[in-house]
Amino acid sequence: MNHTRKGVPTHTLDNLLDAIPNNEPIAAGLKLWLVDRSGRLISPGTFTAAPDAPLMTANCPHGNTPPSRECPCGIHYLPNVERFFLVADHMAKLNPHLPTAVTIGIGIGRTLTDFLPNEKWAGATTLRSDRFLALRCLYADNVPERLAVLLRARSTVPTTRGATETHARRALDEIRAALSRRGDSGARMDKDTP
Ligand SMILES: [Zn+2]
Repeated sequence: MNHTRKGVPTHTLDNLLDAIPNNEPIAAGLKLWLVDRSGRLISPGTFTAAPDAPLMTANCPHGNTPPSRECPCGIHYLPNVERFFLVADHMAKLNPHLPTAVTIGIGIGRTLTDFLPNEKWAGATTLRSDRFLALRCLYADNVPERLAVLLRARSTVPTTRGATETHARRALDEIRAALSRRGDSGARMDKDTP
């Protein structure tokens, strides 16, 4: 079944990976989002909306090139699937009705750990890169179907129900397989990710 609204292109995994320049460092990771009433993905940290395209690029108002050791800017994501779901599941218990989603993708370019120890993520090490390419979106079971329809219509990457560790690992396996089809072993990806 194809829920994609006409005119909104949903890219295939192989097409999406073309956005990664050769030789650039990459690290796989997961980003947590809130889903607003119009099906947009909203950052739970900055409350800004995700771009209407798979690639996010960091801005820095401090005059640095993100990520920099001088400021906290950069696109943030968690590289560890298990840790991500510990945090996401804890948040879901505290806010059972808050509709959430996760994008799974690849941080591109120079990567640093977070600027400050991040208490919000239960001590998990957050990474930040100057770009993050979303490749898959999984939304939580508590997202009502009327909202899921809007989310899928907006999304430019394959988007399905079931924000679980099992689905996330499967998506990462698909990403690795797609990378190796391109002749990229995926060895540049963070080894701690599985
Ligand atoms: Zn900055």
